[in-house]
Amino acid sequence: VRERSSASIAESLLGGVDKAGYEETGLTCLSTADFSSITPLVKQLASELRKRGVSMSVASLRAYGLNEDLLDELALTRISGLTFAPEAGTQRMRDVVNKNVTEEHVEESSRRVFSRGWHRLKLYFMIGLPTEEDEDVRGIVETGLRMLRIGRGILRGGKRPEVTVSVSSHVPKPHTPLQWCAQDPEAEIRRKQGLLRTANRERDIRLKHHHSGISFVEGVLARGDRRLAPVIESVWRAGARFDGWEEVFDFERWLAALAEHGVETAAYLGTRPITARLPWDHIDVGLEDGFLLGEYRKALKGRASPPCGKVAGMLIHHTNLADAEPDRRKLVCYDCGVACDLSKMRDDRLVALRVLGAQDRPAREQAVIDAAGDLATLDVSERGGGSPGEVADPNKRDTERAERVRLLGYVGSGAPYGTYRIKFAKVGRAAFLGHLDLVRLLSRSFRRADLPLAVTRGFTPHPRITFGPALGLGVPSLGELCDVDIEHVVRGKHMWEIEEGDTRIELPASEVLERLAAVCPPGIELASCELVRLNGHPLVIANKCKPDRGLGKAIDAIDLIVRPAPDGMPFDGTRLARIAAAFLARSSAIVVRETRGKQIDVRALVSMVDVIDGDAAARLTGALDWPEGALLRVRVSATAEGSAKPAEVAKALGVWGAEDPRAEHALVARLGVVSELAGRGQVAAGVARVPVVADA
Ligand code: SF4
Repeated sequence: VRERSSASIAESLLGGVDKAGYEETGLTCLSTADFSSITPLVKQLASELRKRGVSMSVASLRAYGLNEDLLDELALTRISGLTFAPEAGTQRMRDVVNKNVTEEHVEESSRRVFSRGWHRLKLYFMIGLPTEEDEDVRGIVETGLRMLRIGRGILRGGKRPEVTVSVSSHVPKPHTPLQWCAQDPEAEIRRKQGLLRTANRERDIRLKHHHSGISFVEGVLARGDRRLAPVIESVWRAGARFDGWEEVFDFERWLAALAEHGVETAAYLGTRPITARLPWDHIDVGLEDGFLLGEYRKALKGRASPPCGKVAGMLIHHTNLADAEPDRRKLVCYDCGVACDLSKMRDDRLVALRVLGAQDRPAREQAVIDAAGDLATLDVSERGGGSPGEVADPNKRDTERAERVRLLGYVGSGAPYGTYRIKFAKVGRAAFLGHLDLVRLLSRSFRRADLPLAVTRGFTPHPRITFGPALGLGVPSLGELCDVDIEHVVRGKHMWEIEEGDTRIELPASEVLERLAAVCPPGIELASCELVRLNGHPLVIANKCKPDRGLGKAIDAIDLIVRPAPDGMPFDGTRLARIAAAFLARSSAIVVRETRGKQIDVRALVSMVDVIDGDAAARLTGALDWPEGALLRVRVSATAEGSAKPAEVAKALGVWGAEDPRAEHALVARLGVVSELAGRGQVAAGVARVPVVADA
C-alpha cells in the first residue's frame, strides 16, 4: 500500500494555503482514516492552520476512524459539523461490502461528535448493494434516526442536532470484488429512494440521494466497452457538458444516444458470469488470479475481511511511537499479488510518526475503537465533554468551544492595528465579481501578501473591511474605496510566527500598497493607499483628536460616466452637452426600477451632468476598454435615502438604448466616489467645491 509521506502532505497543504490565501482547506482521500499517520498529521496541521486563522476539514472518514485525539483536534477548528460513512443501513449489508464498520462504531462516533458541541452530522450510505432487501434500505433511515436521538440526548442549551443522510447508488466497478455484480436498474433505484422517503415521512432527518439517471450512466460507463465511444461522442455533440452535475444532466439525451447506436445496456448492468471475459481483463493491476473472485464469494456470504496492512485486530493505526514501536504483531496480508514489503511498511510508519513528533500516548485514557469489539468504548458524553479542560456544564460546551477556537487562533487576538484607505479600480472581468466574491478575493490577497487582517470577534470571524456604496454586478469602476484594518507586524516574521512580547510596528501605507498590488489578480488595480484614524481607534481615543470620517459618512455621491447607446448619429461633445442641458432643465425624470417596480425620480438625485471630451475621455475609454469618444459625467447622490443605478441614470438621460435586452445599450461605469456635499437643499451649489475623494 503506497502512502504519501506526511511531510510532503504538510508541505503542499501549508504551501497551498500560504500561496493561495484560502481561509479553509481539507484533507481528502478514498478513506482518510486509513492513512497511517492521520491523527498526528491532523494534529500538526491543525496547530499550524490555527495560527493562520485557516479552518480544516477531513473528508471520507470511516465510522471507526473518529478516535478521540483526532476529534479533539478537529473540534478546535472552525468546521461546523462532521461527516462519516456507515456505508449501509444494516450490519449484514456492511459485511457484504467489507467496510469493517459495526453498529457500535457508528453510535460511538456519533456520541463523540455531538459531545464535542457539533450539532451537524452527515452520514454517507449506499443502496443497491448485492443481496440487498427492503429492510436494509429502511435500515438507513433508522440508523439516521438513531443518531438523531443520540444527538438529542447529548446536546444542551437549545441546540438541536441536525442529521443529514446522503444516499448514493452502488455502481460496481472494474478491478473490485463486486465487478461481477448486477447494478440496480434505474427504476429500482427510484423505488428504493421512495422507500427511504417513506421511512423518513416525519422528515426528522435531512435525506439526500443521487439522481438515479446519473447512477445508470455511471454504471454503463464503468463496466461498458468500446461500443460506448460513439455514444459518448453523440451525447457530447448533443450538448452534454458537466453531466456529473444534476442541474445540467439530461437523462433523455443519454437514452437517445444509446438507442441511436443500438447499445443494449442490460448486458453492462446485469450480473456477469464469473467465467466471462471482461472488457478490462487485459489491464493488469497486479492482483493474483482468483484473488478478487475469492473476495467476491466471501462478500456474498457476508464475511468481512479485516483491512490489510494493519495490525491484526486493529482498524486504525497506532497514533504514537510509544504504542507502535513495541507492537511486533504481524500486519494483515492476503497475498493479493501486489507484494507489499510489510517490514518496510512498518518502518515507514515509525519514521512518519517520528517526523511528526508523535512520541507519546495521549495524556488521557483513551479507548481505541477496535475490531475486537469487546474493548470498552468510552462514552464521552458522560464525562461532560470530549476535550481536556472542557467545562463540566454541558450547557456551556458550545460557547466554550467557540472561545477556545477564538483564543487559539492568531487572528482576532486583539493586536494593535492601523486602518488603511485603499483606492482601487475594478475593471475587465473583475467587474463581474459580486460583492461577496470581492470581499473573499481581497481577504485572500491580503493573506498572500502576508498582511495580517484584523477580524471581528466571535466563532466565525470576518475580516474587518468596509466598502463604499455597493457597485452593481458587471459595472466597472475606476474609483472604489475600502477601509481595511491591518494588524501591526513584526519585521522578519510571518504573521503566524508572531509571539507575545514581540515588538510590532505599523506598516507604512506605501508598503501595504506595494505588497498588495503584487498579488492582486488582473482587473483589481490599486491606485493609492493611506492611513486613516477612524473613530474608536486607540490613538484617537488616547490623543482625543478629531477622527477621520468613515466611508459611510465620507461618501454621499457617486460620479458615473456614460457612453450613450449608438443610434446612428455620432455622439460628439456638442451633442452630449445638449443632452446634459436638456436633462438638467427638467424638473423630474421618472424611471421604473426593474426589480420592484418602484418609481425613481433620477433628476432629484442628480446634481451635475457634464461632458468629458478630448484626452481625458481617451484616457478613460482606454482604461475601460471602451470605443473612443466623448462621455457624459453624472454626479448622483448616494445617501441612506437612496440612489439611482447606473442603468437608471442612462435611461433618465434618454441614452440607454432600446428596451429589447438584445439591443446594444449604453456603457456605464463608476468614475469615483465623492465626499462632503453641502447640506440638503444646496446640493447644486455645493458641488463645485466638492473635493473628489476618488476620481479618474
Ligand atoms: S493484501 Fe498484502 S500484498 Fe495485497 S495490498 Fe494488502 S498488504 Fe499489500
